[in-house]
Amino acid sequence: MAQLTTNAIVLRRADYRENDRMLMLFSPTHGRIEALARGCRRQKSPLMAASEVFCAGEYVLYASGERMTVVSCAVQDTFYPLRSDFERLAHGMYALELCAAAVQPEQENERLFLLLLRSLAHLTYSAIAPRRVTAVFLMGLVSLMGFRPQVGRCVACGMPIAPVVPAGKDRDAPIAAFSPERGGVLCTACGAGEPCRLNAAELDALQAIMRRGIKTLDEDAEISDALFDALRRMAEERMDAPIRSGRML
Ligand SMILES: [Zn+2]
Repeated sequence: MAQLTTNAIVLRRADYRENDRMLMLFSPTHGRIEALARGCRRQKSPLMAASEVFCAGEYVLYASGERMTVVSCAVQDTFYPLRSDFERLAHGMYALELCAAAVQPEQENERLFLLLLRSLAHLTYSAIAPRRVTAVFLMGLVSLMGFRPQVGRCVACGMPIAPVVPAGKDRDAPIAAFSPERGGVLCTACGAGEPCRLNAAELDALQAIMRRGIKTLDEDAEISDALFDALRRMAEERMDAPIRSGRML
């Protein structure tokens, strides 16, 4: 029997018995944790906020045999305003579900934890288009899972691809393609049959995400529908479980 104090965020919850809930927590140091929040659905329960999805805080857990129980939680953020904007909420739920599929028990992943919290903070408190936030999250997630997207050279022939508008072409001319299956960009020759074409600005945005991660959200960029769908497929195909909340995006 032992006590564990860890930062964590609630990825999922399920009502249990009359007043309890089972929580799926994501801890940066202990990975995915299932924990019982006793009495949290009672009026005035001190665990009421701590047993809602998106709640991030310092959780004190008590382990007895196989079971973890929430003792207390110092709430840091509930991302509450997300609930007033359906589109932003859907992006937030999607990020939580991806983490639930990606994170394993007892697996340390501090960087993914921080990426998730920062992405949720942008979705909740900034005016940045939610699909840009999710695009950065998806690129970071697959990188941290060991499938780093290749965006500087063609994944088929290895030719370097620079985000430059070709002489005599307009700004929207495709200069590369993106393949979700291969997890990277293709030159125009290798990517002739790919549905997701990239113009110079989109390739530049992808390369910036790989260099600077979430800091690129300070700059202007656009993510087309085709590119957003391709990034989603790239991440979802690398998960063991189907990601259902993606349908709401
Ligand atoms: Zn090529």
